[in-house]
Amino acid sequence: MASNKKRNGGRTTQPKPSTPRRLLRGFRAGPGDLAQRSTVFADLQDRSVLLIGLGNLGSTSAVQLGREGVGALSLVDFDYYDPATGVRHQLDLRAAGLPKTQALTEQIQWAAPHTAVETPQFRLGMARPNGEGPDTHDFLVDTIAATDLVYDATADRGVTSYLSDLALAADTPMISVATANGTLGGRIARFEPTGICSDCLDWYLIDQPDETSWPHLPSDPELALVQPAGCGELTFVGTGFEPAVIALGGVQAAIAVLSPAYPTADWNVAVVTMRDSDGSPIPGNTDNRRLPTHTSCSAAHKPS
Ligand SMILES: [Zn+2]
Repeated sequence: MASNKKRNGGRTTQPKPSTPRRLLRGFRAGPGDLAQRSTVFADLQDRSVLLIGLGNLGSTSAVQLGREGVGALSLVDFDYYDPATGVRHQLDLRAAGLPKTQALTEQIQWAAPHTAVETPQFRLGMARPNGEGPDTHDFLVDTIAATDLVYDATADRGVTSYLSDLALAADTPMISVATANGTLGGRIARFEPTGICSDCLDWYLIDQPDETSWPHLPSDPELALVQPAGCGELTFVGTGFEPAVIALGGVQAAIAVLSPAYPTADWNVAVVTMRDSDGSPIPGNTDNRRLPTHTSCSAAHKPS
C-alpha cells in the first residue's frame, strides 16, 4: 500500500477532520409574529408615548409598554442608575453608573426590537446659562403635541401638574402613576382634555384632609423616609413587587387609551390598596371612581 509521503511528492499530510455539521433552529420575532400572540400589539405599532421619570414605576412601565408593542417611546430622566435601587428597578448591575435613559434604551431594544426609543437627557427646569443647552419647555411642548400619550412616573406633584397643563393645552391624554412610602398601594390617574386634570385631583385631595381617605395614597405613617449612603435625596422604603402592580396597572390604563381593540376604562382615578382592613397582604383592592372636573379648578378644560 502506497504511503501518503509517496502520493504527495514527499510531503506528509494528515487526514482532514470531518467538518462538524450543525442545524440551527430558526426563530420568528417579526411584528407579525408578536402580533399573533397579542390582542393589542398591532394597534400599538403606530402609537407613541412620552414617558417621564425612570425610577421604580417608570422603568417597569417603559419596558412593558415596549413589550406590548408601542411603536415609539420617548424616555426622559436626568439620573444615573444606582445599583442599590436594584430591589425595585428594572435595570441591574450591568447598568451601574449609566444614564437610566441609555441603559433602559438598550434593555427595551432587546425586549421590544420593534419599538423606537428616543432619549433626550435633561433635567426638567434645569438652568440654561447664556441660553445654552436644550430648552426643556420647548421640547416638551413640541413632543406632547406630537405624541399620543404622556405617561408621568415622576412622583413629583409639581412636575405632574406642569405636565398636565401642557397635555391639556395640546389635547393629549395623560396617565399618572404614584406610590408612597411603605408601598402599601398606589394611585393611577387618567387626565384627559375633556376630563379631570392634575389640579382637579389636587383639589379633591384638599377636600379630604384625612390622608387615609380616598383618593390619598395608601402609606405607612410609622415608616420614615431614608437617605442611604451615596443617595442624594430621601427615598422611600418598601417592596419591589407591590409597586410593580401599580406600574402594570398604569400600563393597562395606557393601553386602554391607545388601543381601539382594548376596552376603555370608565374610571379616571384608581387607588390600589395592598392590605386589607386588618393589615393582611392582598393582591390589590382597587377603588375606582370617575371624578368630574373640580369646581375650584381654574384649568382650561375642554367641553365634553
Ligand atoms: Zn382641572
